Amino acid sequence: MNADGKWNAIAATQMGEQKFTLRFKTNGDTFTGSMHSNFGALLISGIVDSDTLSWSTVMSQPISMSLDYKVRIQGDELTGELNGGAFGTAPIKGTRAADDDESADANAPDPIEAAKADLDFDPAALREKYRQERDKRIRDDGEAQYLELSGKFAHYSEDDPYVESGFVREPLRDEIDVVIIGGGFSGLLAGARLKENGISNFRIIEAGGDFGGTWYWNRYPGAQCDIESYCYLPLLEELGYIPKEKYSYVNEIFEHSQRIGRAYGLYDVTSFQTRVKSVDWDETIKRWHISTNRNDDIKARFVIMALGTASRAKLPGIPGIEEFEGHSFHTSRWDYNYTGGNTTGGMTKLADKRVAIIGTGATAIQAVPFLGKYAKQLYVFQRTPSSVDLRGNKPTDYTWAETLEPGWQRKRRENFAAILTGQPFEHDLVNDGWTDIFRNVLSIPKSDKPMTPEQIGQVMEIADFKKMNSIRARVDDTVEDRDAAEALKPWYRQFCKRPTFNDEYLPTFNLPHVELIDVSAAKGVERITKKGVVANGKEYEVDCIIYASGFEISTAFRRRIGIEINGEGGKSLFEHFADGFKTLHGFSTRGFPNWFYIGISQNALSVNMTAMFDEQARHIAYIIKETRNRGGVTVQPTQESQDAWVDLINKLQINNRAFLEACTPGYYNNEGSARAGLGAGIYTPGINAFNKLLEEWRATGDMEGLEIQR
Ligand SMILES: Cc1cc2nc3c(=O)[nH]c(=O)nc-3n(C[C@H](O)[C@H](O)[C@H](O)COP(=O)(O)OP(=O)(O)OC[C@H]3O[C@@H](n4cnc5c(N)ncnc54)[C@H](O)[C@@H]3O)c2cc1C
Repeated sequence: MNADGKWNAIAATQMGEQKFTLRFKTNGDTFTGSMHSNFGALLISGIVDSDTLSWSTVMSQPISMSLDYKVRIQGDELTGELNGGAFGTAPIKGTRAADDDESADANAPDPIEAAKADLDFDPAALREKYRQERDKRIRDDGEAQYLELSGKFAHYSEDDPYVESGFVREPLRDEIDVVIIGGGFSGLLAGARLKENGISNFRIIEAGGDFGGTWYWNRYPGAQCDIESYCYLPLLEELGYIPKEKYSYVNEIFEHSQRIGRAYGLYDVTSFQTRVKSVDWDETIKRWHISTNRNDDIKARFVIMALGTASRAKLPGIPGIEEFEGHSFHTSRWDYNYTGGNTTGGMTKLADKRVAIIGTGATAIQAVPFLGKYAKQLYVFQRTPSSVDLRGNKPTDYTWAETLEPGWQRKRRENFAAILTGQPFEHDLVNDGWTDIFRNVLSIPKSDKPMTPEQIGQVMEIADFKKMNSIRARVDDTVEDRDAAEALKPWYRQFCKRPTFNDEYLPTFNLPHVELIDVSAAKGVERITKKGVVANGKEYEVDCIIYASGFEISTAFRRRIGIEINGEGGKSLFEHFADGFKTLHGFSTRGFPNWFYIGISQNALSVNMTAMFDEQARHIAYIIKETRNRGGVTVQPTQESQDAWVDLINKLQINNRAFLEACTPGYYNNEGSARAGLGAGIYTPGINAFNKLLEEWRATGDMEGLEIQR
C-alpha cells in the first residue's frame, strides 16, 4: 500500500458534505500528516495497519470534541469512516491528488505567531483576571440562591397585569383529539401545523389572556427580540408579513402572534386565563385527563406541551425580600399602572420615584434606558455585567423585501444556523453581532498551516480576548464615570453568558440620577428592608424594586414545568426522567403514550428558538396525523428506538465542561457548578442536521421507532 502523498476526500456527514485534503507520510506502522477542511487545518498522526490508516482529532477549546477517522487505501482510491464526536458516523470517499507540494504548508505563516502578532495585552494576565472575577462571584448556594415563585411569592408570576380581574367561566368537560398547553409561538405553531395536517379538533390552553407567551408576559419597556426578526418571527411567508425593523420590539412581536392566532382560527379553540395543573393518562379510555385551575377536566387523545423555556420567572433569594413596604414587581409582569406609559416609554408616573432594578442580564439591558429616562432616581444593582455590543437596528428596506423569493425565510434561517454551527456558507445573509461572534470567535480559525488542537484552542482564545477587549473598550468610550465604566466591563469569555446588543444601555450611566451599584464583592445584594435595598453595607431607600432576575431555565425539570404529569400505571414523568431525559428525538417518551413535548430536550438547540420549535411542531403534527390515518389509538416510542436515541445523544455529547467551569457564574453553567450546563444532552450536530434527519424520517413514511396500537 502506498498512502504517502495528498488526497482529496469528502465525508458525507449529517451536517452536509465536509470536504478535506489529507496528507500522509507513513513510517512503518505509524504516520504523520495534516488534514485541511472547512473546519480549519489540523496536524494529525496515527496508526497504519495493513491498508488502513486510523487517527483521531481532539479539539480542546472552547469545547472538547473527539472524532475518529479510519480510511482504507487501495491504489488511488480512499474509502473509510468518520466516527463519533459531534458528527455521528459518516462515510468518507476520496482520491489521490496530483499535487503533493508539502512546501505550501511549510511556507504558510505560523498561525499562533500570526494570532499573537501586535497584541496589546498579555493573554496570561487576562486569563488570571477572568479567574479572579469568576471566583469573586461564585456562591456556595449555587442555583439555590433563587426563589421559586410559589406560596407567598406566587403573585409575582401568577398575577396577570394585562387582564381585568374576576374572570369566571363554567368548567369544561370536553372530549377532544388534541390539547396544546401554552399559547406562545410553540403552541401557535403546533396549532398551525395541526391545521395544515387536517386536524382541527383541538384546544389550546393558555394561562395568559392572549397569545404571545414570552411576548405577552414580557412587556417591559424596550423589550425586543435579539435575533433578527426576519429569522425570528415565525410563519412570515405563510402570512405574507415583513417585520418593520431588523429587530422587532415587543408590540410588533405580540401583534404577530395575534396575527397567527387569527389566520389559523386559533382564537376559537383557545381557553385563555386557564392554567393546567395536571395531566394524567387514563388507560381505560386511552386518553389524557387535563385538569386546570378552572376545574376543567378535559379528556384528550393527544397532549402537546408547549410551555416555553423561559416562562417561569425567578426571584433572587435576598434576605428580607418579603419585608419591603414599597412597590415591587418582576420584569415579566411590568406594572404600567404604577409606572405609567407603555412599552415605548411615557412612564411619567416615575418622575417622583426612586427605583431600584436588581439584575443586569438581557432584560435589564433593554429596560434600563427607559427607567433612566423617566425615574427620579435609578439604582442599578449589578453582580455581573453583560457583554453589550452594538445593536445597529434599522428599518426594513421594503425594496429588498420585494426581491425575496419563495422559501426565503427557511433559507435565511438555515444560513444563520449554518454560520452558528460552523458549516460552510456562501454569504452571511443576516450579518449581525451573532454571526460576527461565530465567524470570528467561535469557529475554528482558518489557517493554511495545520495546527494541533491545543494550538487551535490558543488561537480561539486570543480571538475571544480581542472581541471582549472591544466590548470593554466600548464601555470606556461611552461611560464617563471611570468607576462605573470599570464595573460595567465583562471579564469572561464571550459565550459564558448570552451576549446582548444595545445602543442605549451604556449611555444611560452618564445621566446624573442613574447610579450603578456594583455588588460583585458581596456576591449580590445583601438584604431588602422595609424601605429599600442594602448593598455593600449601605441602605438605598427606594419607592419601587424591579426584579430583572430572569427565569427558571436550568433548574430541575419539575420546578420548571410546574405541572404534574402521570403516564401509564400512574408513573410520574419526573420520576421517569429522574436520571435524565429518555426520548425519541426529544419529543416523546415510552410509558407516556400520545404525549409530546416542544422545547429543549434531546433535540437540537438554536439561539433562534422559533426556528427549532417550528420544526418540532411540524414533526409532531405529522406523527399525530399518521397515527390517526393508520387507525392508531396510541403512539409512543419503542424501547429499542428510545434507547438507541439516548445512546446516540450520549455519544454526541461534547465536553465543554472546562470552558464552562472557567466562566463567570450564570444560567449557562448552573451558577458555576461543574455539572453540565445549558446545552447538555442536546443533538450537537446542530439544528440544520436535526431538521434534515426529521425530514428524512418522515419521508420514509414508516414511522420507524414508534409503536402504534390500534
Ligand atoms: C425577554 C425575553 C426575550 C427573548 N428574546 C428571544 C430572542 O430574541 N430570540 C429567541 O430565539 N428567543 C428569545 N427568547 C426566548 C423565547 O422564550 C422564545 O423565543 C419563544 O418565544 C418561546 O416560545 P414558547 O411558545 O416555546 O414559550 P413561551 O413564549 O414562554 O410560551 C409558553 C406559554 O405557556 C404558558 N404556560 C406555561 N405553563 C402553563 C400552564 N401550566 N398552563 C397553561 N399555560 C401555561 C405560558 O403562559 C406561556 O404563554 C426570549 C425570552 C425572553 C423571556
